[in-house]
Amino acid sequence: MRILLIEDEHKLANALKRALEREHYAVDVSYDGDDGCAMAMNEKYDLMIIDRMLPGSHDGLEIVKAMRDKKIHTPVLVLTAMNTVGDRITGLDSGADDYLTKPFALQELQARVRALLRRPEAHLGNILTVGDLELDTTTYEAKRAGQMIQLTAKEFALLEYLMRNPGRLLSKESIMNHVWDYDADILPNTVEVYIKYLREKIDKPFKKPLIHTARGFGYKISDV
Ligand code: CA
Repeated sequence: MRILLIEDEHKLANALKRALEREHYAVDVSYDGDDGCAMAMNEKYDLMIIDRMLPGSHDGLEIVKAMRDKKIHTPVLVLTAMNTVGDRITGLDSGADDYLTKPFALQELQARVRALLRRPEAHLGNILTVGDLELDTTTYEAKRAGQMIQLTAKEFALLEYLMRNPGRLLSKESIMNHVWDYDADILPNTVEVYIKYLREKIDKPFKKPLIHTARGFGYKISDV
């Protein structure tokens, strides 16, 4: 899952980036409103965390409004130092999905990120399931047929993205955009290489393959 963080306090932004990366998210950071607004409009993210007060001509709420006007429905968590009922209401009215007041505990931010990334239409909880494969997105444990499987951070992120879209054919480009951040060193065959690693662990030792290839296009995970 790829997250855009727009926050002008460098120290806080960098600490949040590190904390979210520990949770296996790919994180792009922007330190100002104009640059952040351009990224929000032009790149694909699964979630955005946007500070309310930002330098530049776009503050956090204007970015959210602009996105919603352009029919970009990516979930947004707004961070703010303002904490009156009126401020919270303005924040939610602008189209933000959730609102967190500074200072906050890191664990609370992480819990809200998990909640926003759950896709309500699929009724996905913290444990994703495809066939006999299970992925726990809070403990980062993968299990197939009850057997524990050790994954690296990138393998986990890739498997999570596939499992959040069960049965859906995902292009290599979309996989790249959701699993790797903007600054990552990506080679043309990076996705293939990681799919191969994953197959070695979650498919090879078992009878039935779950990861399927659409040659020249991409991949999907499915039990059928
Ligand atoms: Ca700020």
